[in-house]
Amino acid sequence: MFQVNDNFTMLPSSYLFSEVARRVKAYTEAHPEAEVIRMGIGDVTRPLCPAVIDALHKAVDDEGCAERFHGYGPEQGYDFLVSKIVEYDYRRRGIDVSEDEVFVSDGAKSDTGNIGDILSTANRVAVTDPVYPVYVDTNVMAGRAGMLRKDGRWSNIEYQPCTAENNFIPSLPAGKPDVIYLCYPNNPTGTTLTREELKKWVDYCRKHGALLLFDAAYEAFIREENVPHSIYEIEGAREVAIEFRSFSKTAGFTGIRLGYTVVPRELKGKDSDGNDVALNPLWRRRQTTKFNGASYLTQRGAEALYTEEGQRQVRETIDYYLENAAVMRKGLTDAGYECVGGVNSPYVWIKTPDGMTSWEFFDFLLNKYHIVGTPGSGFGPSGEGYFRLTAFNTRENTVKAMSRMAD
Ligand code: PLP
Repeated sequence: MFQVNDNFTMLPSSYLFSEVARRVKAYTEAHPEAEVIRMGIGDVTRPLCPAVIDALHKAVDDEGCAERFHGYGPEQGYDFLVSKIVEYDYRRRGIDVSEDEVFVSDGAKSDTGNIGDILSTANRVAVTDPVYPVYVDTNVMAGRAGMLRKDGRWSNIEYQPCTAENNFIPSLPAGKPDVIYLCYPNNPTGTTLTREELKKWVDYCRKHGALLLFDAAYEAFIREENVPHSIYEIEGAREVAIEFRSFSKTAGFTGIRLGYTVVPRELKGKDSDGNDVALNPLWRRRQTTKFNGASYLTQRGAEALYTEEGQRQVRETIDYYLENAAVMRKGLTDAGYECVGGVNSPYVWIKTPDGMTSWEFFDFLLNKYHIVGTPGSGFGPSGEGYFRLTAFNTRENTVKAMSRMAD
């Protein structure tokens, strides 16, 4: 009989969102009159901007015409898009990234999950806690995580807590990990790291020969000056960091799917004989073998973002979410809650009041105010005692939710 990959059997079932759905369903069935406002949404709600819609329509017409039909494209993305990414996302910010370092994909979830393919299973991994669960779970699947301990942590993963006690600034790891995941602006806390803070991590990785996997999926929400948009704004990062970007939250591509990953040519690891190996060709080999490219249509849609009009339109959408976040921050603070995030991020991270657990606060908000959010404990042990609300609902509902909580 064939055997399955045991690592998958070690993963606990993903309980968070199904349990949220179960409790909301039970509540609405018992209270059909309650108008429930969902602020746990991790998905965008505003439609694609007109520039993208026009480009998508044109691309559909291309596909219906023999002269302009596109079948399989380059696995790493069409030049028309890659050149715009390099120009707008990097060169215009004075950042040195070249076309052959950009790999277009179907999103940052796949790339942050798949990157482990080119890394040894012997590597020790570090994450911040709370954390986007994909980083941990994909390492469990690969056999890098060890055993799940009673405290909810995996024995071979080093966790860097981010809580109010350290102002949500993770300390550098003590255990000399080989691979470090950072996500800024952060999901779920909505916090950011300054240039100086990020430099500490880049310097640490250079000193210890560690790889930094930097997830910048929420880059487009950054509005403050001292928050870097790319890890490559930090000196030396090209030698140690891979950067993941996504069009999901930037431009509402959660449904049509697109992202990209930057693997600088200078970035090298060691093989088991101690020889230097560049990661860029390894990732290219991995992608050309296992991935057949993002769709022509989606890439044409994304190309339209890199125009004056496209940039203005997506900024308007993100500003809408950020204004929701500002309404939430003010409403929550006025109501006496402690919260962070929501400035360069669509996420607001609340400290639960009166020592309530994350799930107790979930029930409290649902029962008292008919508001649904996400319990922080679902993002890792240090998320206990916290709660995530998102700015992706409508303005009207956001305002309504805050006035309920002010009551
Ligand atoms: N990275 C982080 C931190 C996220 O929160 C998400 C989505 O919620 C993703 C990546 C997924 O991005 P994509 O839609 O491009 O796969």
